[in-house]
Amino acid sequence: MQEQFSATPRTTPTRELRGLALHRERGHEIEHIGKGVYSVPGCSGGSYRVDLAVFDGEQSCSCPDRAPVCKHIICATIYRAKSRAKARREQHQRAASRATRGNLAPLAASL
Ligand SMILES: [Zn+2]
Repeated sequence: MQEQFSATPRTTPTRELRGLALHRERGHEIEHIGKGVYSVPGCSGGSYRVDLAVFDGEQSCSCPDRAPVCKHIICATIYRAKSRAKARREQHQRAASRATRGNLAPLAASL
């Protein structure tokens, strides 16, 4: 009798990893549709509405996954973290370019 390889338990990737993969592959499709609310692409077409609950309440997603934190929420969290980092970088760059345009006062003040 042949050994059945399918009987070997396969390790399923964690939600975190699937959220990361989703961001890597479809991150450009995420839309920021409101305060803490994002439209995140689903695997089978369409998209889900993710609410990261910036003010109050619990994070939620409109997908059928009943886990408290699904991969779409993780994906939206990564997206938000990255766009915040980007905004901070741009702010620094603007401050730096102001300083090099001759007005060194803000730079001097921050030293
Ligand atoms: Zn979801």
